[in-house]
Amino acid sequence: MDYKFITDSNVVERIVKRELKNGREGFVFDKYGITIYYTVKCLHCGRYFTANELRVAKDNPGEYAVLCKYAPECDGNIEDMIPITELAY
Ligand SMILES: [Zn+2]
Repeated sequence: MDYKFITDSNVVERIVKRELKNGREGFVFDKYGITIYYTVKCLHCGRYFTANELRVAKDNPGEYAVLCKYAPECDGNIEDMIPITELAY
């Protein structure tokens, strides 16, 4: 797929938080909107990284896809991201 990655880190952070909050169970947010489970595992490639390393690509106009840190090498998207606690990690 031909991704158009968003490079503005403020935009990336906002979209990642919004999408994790709305679309994924297990991610817990405090009153500041920061996820408590900061480390994620990509089920697609099996690698661990922090939520702020997720990549965001523009899909259709006005729509964004949250992708694995290792996109486009890895096809993992937000559905493949599971939260890992410090203890579990
Ligand atoms: Zn991945």
